[in-house]
Amino acid sequence: MTDPRVELASLVAAFRARLDWEQGHGSRHVRAAPSPRLGLPPEPEPDPIVAATAVAPAPAAPAPTAPSPHVEPGPPPPPPSRAPAAPAGPLEPAPSVAAAGDRRARLEHLRAELGECHRCRLGDTRRNLVFGVGDPEAQLMVVGEGPGRDEDLQGEPFVGAAGQLLTKMLEAMGLGRDDVYIANIIKCRPPQNRDPAPDEIAACERFLQQQVEIISPRIILAMGNFAAKTLLRTEVGITRLRGRFHAYQGIPLMPTFHPAYLLRNADGKRPAWEDLKQVMAEMDRLGLRRRRS
Ligand code: SF4
Repeated sequence: MTDPRVELASLVAAFRARLDWEQGHGSRHVRAAPSPRLGLPPEPEPDPIVAATAVAPAPAAPAPTAPSPHVEPGPPPPPPSRAPAAPAGPLEPAPSVAAAGDRRARLEHLRAELGECHRCRLGDTRRNLVFGVGDPEAQLMVVGEGPGRDEDLQGEPFVGAAGQLLTKMLEAMGLGRDDVYIANIIKCRPPQNRDPAPDEIAACERFLQQQVEIISPRIILAMGNFAAKTLLRTEVGITRLRGRFHAYQGIPLMPTFHPAYLLRNADGKRPAWEDLKQVMAEMDRLGLRRRRS
């Protein structure tokens, strides 16, 4: 049996020899080997996380956070110098329109509100929006159905052959085009001159209503089947409607044939002239001015 003192001296000598070797190879400390005989616990391995953060670099700026797919992105902030857009929707008479003194300014305001209108699909196919022309103080207002090809090209109602015939009809009444106001139920040409759809009429008719309200004519001449039926809210055709006065917004309204119809149907010219004679008589009765009575 070995003497314990001899064994301890041997261990100390071995430890010193190992210590010298470790220092000679740059070690700052000596890892003790487990010695079951001495009952020493093994030195714990350094924590890799603690080691990595022992000399911590300056914290980097946080990376931008990607939007969560579960959170709806908010609206982008509005540009600071931009006025909020006017809400789309039904056109109501603006207070400034109601307060405007003269009718020309109110019509210009209404035209500006229409803008490059796309309230119905006809706005996508028209060349020009046809708002209306004439005297804002007119006592006779002529209402047609909608722009045709020539009107769409020129942006003015009742031009081309039908417009020339209307001019002759007015001259026969002792009126010029400048003496009346001319507008249509709808302001944009339907493709291939088809009839306007009900939703197109609903989108556009309010503008004519406001034109009538602003101009406040004493008499309305509704030209053609479509215009008369739309204004009078009836399915009765022009042949039965014409020949007597009706009322639109309390204003006497005379339905008659459209000049385009008269160009194709000469038989309609005599009854149309009878209609116009009734209008002249009513104008005279009301004391309204005509160039030639
Ligand atoms: S027809 Fe009337 S409502 Fe339709 S786009 Fe033209 S102006 Fe606007």
